[in-house]
Amino acid sequence: MTNPQQPTASDSHSSVSITFDQATKTYPGSDAPALDSLSMTIGAGELVCLVGPSGGGKTTALMLINRLIDLTSGDIRIGDTSISDIGAIELRRSIGYAIQQTGLFPHMTVAQNIAIVPKVLGWDAQRIASRTDELLELVGLTPAGEWKKRYPGQLSGGQQQRIGIARALAADPPVMLMDEPFGALDPITRTIVQDEFLAIHRAVDKTTVFVTHDIDEAIKMGDKIAILKPGGLLAQFGTPEELLTDPADDFVASFLGTERGLKRLALYTLADLSASEKPDSWPDWPQLPGDATVREALSLAMAERADGVVVTSGGAAVSTLSLDQLIHPELSEAAV
Ligand code: ADP
Ligand code: MG
Repeated sequence: MTNPQQPTASDSHSSVSITFDQATKTYPGSDAPALDSLSMTIGAGELVCLVGPSGGGKTTALMLINRLIDLTSGDIRIGDTSISDIGAIELRRSIGYAIQQTGLFPHMTVAQNIAIVPKVLGWDAQRIASRTDELLELVGLTPAGEWKKRYPGQLSGGQQQRIGIARALAADPPVMLMDEPFGALDPITRTIVQDEFLAIHRAVDKTTVFVTHDIDEAIKMGDKIAILKPGGLLAQFGTPEELLTDPADDFVASFLGTERGLKRLALYTLADLSASEKPDSWPDWPQLPGDATVREALSLAMAERADGVVVTSGGAAVSTLSLDQLIHPELSEAAV
């Protein structure tokens, strides 16, 4: 089934990098590119969020990777191999693809939807069944038996999106492409599914390109963020901290929003900050555990009109952080 002469993206199940090299797409009949000379490398195992306004070229960039559309010029490489040297079918089998509209087949059960790629790859029934159970557990739909026989129409939007993610992960592809996968979820379900997906990502370490128009989702999910601006131009590519600390231009700054400073404080926990000397007696400040974010601590101190917070561990006070230390966080050696 697989042509042994052809290089594939799934030769190894360890993760691979994705390199955009001057990647440009101009749709037929349009004179301006939808994606304009994008160059960036997504490291093996990294989760990179692609953000930007509607029409900025995010979906275009994603569909170029699995050759749902063709490049006008430039190249994209998976590992060291140009996607033009990998058969489009083979490429799509080795890349998991999850989209907001889920694309589940309504006439197929959950189990049948998840099994599509494994079947094409010729897995036996038992392997498919145990993989399906494993995936349903991974996306938090248990007991698996209860969900497998249902049809997409018998699931909520959030459950359908989880099945879409399970299906994309089914054959354990080294690369995952996700296009606004949580876009249709209500805020509470969305937070749960984001946390689940981050846990999955940490466990399986797949190179992931995650498209969202929501900068807060990108800051939460991304090891790095690429911001595209209208015209399909890359405005900035860096870690959430780099973007929040040093936005490349006014477009990036306004996209990050006026709460940029507070969002940056949400990247650090109290345990990340250098502790002050232990006081002779603990001030009457609000108490928070070390895994609270600096932003939460600042908010709580302000709400209680305190001049700082007391950091606790196992319920016992261990250090203090003044308002000034919260506003100008100095990272401890261990956190740098
Ligand atoms: P995003 O996902 O960031 O909202 P898209 O990649 O979907 O943006 O679209 C980028 C630009 O390309 C838009 O101006 C859009 O209208 C245009 N575009 C997208 N798909 C097509 C197509 N099939 N034919 C012509 N133009 C398209
Ligand atoms: Mg889009």
